[in-house]
Amino acid sequence: MSVAVEKPNRRQPMLKKVRGFIRWVLSKTFVRKILHVLDMAGGVAIRTRVGAHIVGTLIPGSRPVLCSDCFSDHGLALDAARIGILNTLPCPNCGAQNSKKLTLYLLEVLASQFFVRGSVIRARYGSAPFVQFNKQHYRKNSFDALPSLRRDAELIGEKARFGFFEYGPRLWMIGYVTPLEELQDPQRRDPVIKRILKEYPQRTWSATHTLYRLRANPSTPSNPGEYDSPPDQFLGQGRLDSLELPIMYCSQDIEGCVHECRVTVEDELYLAALKPVRELRLLDLTELLAEEHVTEFESLDMAVHMLFYAAEHSYPISRAIAVAARDSGFDGLIYPSYFSQVRSEEMPFETVYGISVRRFPKAAQYAQSGVFPNVALFGRPLHDGIVGVTCINRLILRKERYDIGFGPVKPLPGNWNRPWR
Ligand SMILES: [Zn+2]
Repeated sequence: MSVAVEKPNRRQPMLKKVRGFIRWVLSKTFVRKILHVLDMAGGVAIRTRVGAHIVGTLIPGSRPVLCSDCFSDHGLALDAARIGILNTLPCPNCGAQNSKKLTLYLLEVLASQFFVRGSVIRARYGSAPFVQFNKQHYRKNSFDALPSLRRDAELIGEKARFGFFEYGPRLWMIGYVTPLEELQDPQRRDPVIKRILKEYPQRTWSATHTLYRLRANPSTPSNPGEYDSPPDQFLGQGRLDSLELPIMYCSQDIEGCVHECRVTVEDELYLAALKPVRELRLLDLTELLAEEHVTEFESLDMAVHMLFYAAEHSYPISRAIAVAARDSGFDGLIYPSYFSQVRSEEMPFETVYGISVRRFPKAAQYAQSGVFPNVALFGRPLHDGIVGVTCINRLILRKERYDIGFGPVKPLPGNWNRPWR
């Protein structure tokens, strides 16, 4: 999210000290507990007329500025109802009593989720939002919204004192990353793959690790052989398998298996629990590489991260990495699940001031938390006796839940090149 850059002034050293002191106080566990209790008490109080007035007087920031009834765009109103809170104070804009209320803070959350997160468009590699907002564009909205949204965008901007604009992404965000460009060119691919094998860490997994393998519609579910890599005639369809190298796709996480298998309610599903028979040597591509003095444009970390979040056009590259890893003596890969993009709530390729959050040492853990690992074992590990089936169960999909948000419509035609649905 873009934020106005503060001008330096003489008060800044003092301000810095005050902010440092506040941060120190807030870092104390008992202070955080007291604030949490006060926050909960405030949350209950604002549901009563008197409580809402008292809290609103003591903490002006808790007063609503807009509400979910203020908007004419349907998706924006639904997002506002999801993000907004109950507060018995009437909406100062439309006067509604029973709608979900938005404080200044929540208004910024709504703008960020609807306009920025909601405008993210996938490129061949990477993705970027086409709308951003900041204080510098206050009263200078330049985003060409549909008529249903135009007035709402102006209303939000006026209350929060920022403006929306069409965002031209930094080129690395849409895949202009040198190692990734080299990987796409078969003539220049090999040296980058050599670096991947050398720079990513190795993991050794023993029999204490459990892996899961999901099968849809196996002919004999009780037969452990059904859970091995697919027969030859089905090879070359997935991210890592090829005629040259069968792959057993599995995961330490059952939900991950369900996502990867792209199952429907019509499928008969069976899950095998597996254990390594001997130590497995795996190349871990989910690790965030610490690269010093390297920008996103030259980052191997960003190249690999984008590769596993790309669709089928990227498969020849990931298959070449798998073959090279097998040739170097690895038993398999740990790699980021493509579905990490919908399983975590984080924005794909999130940036702060146009810099990837993966580049900030302290944010690395946060970036890593949005990655769900999968495991690919090379060859036919059950047939070869590298892993063994310890248990087979039927798997029932009891409930599927979608977490839905909305976004604006891009005014120009997109060149999606995807099937009509
Ligand atoms: Zn309202």
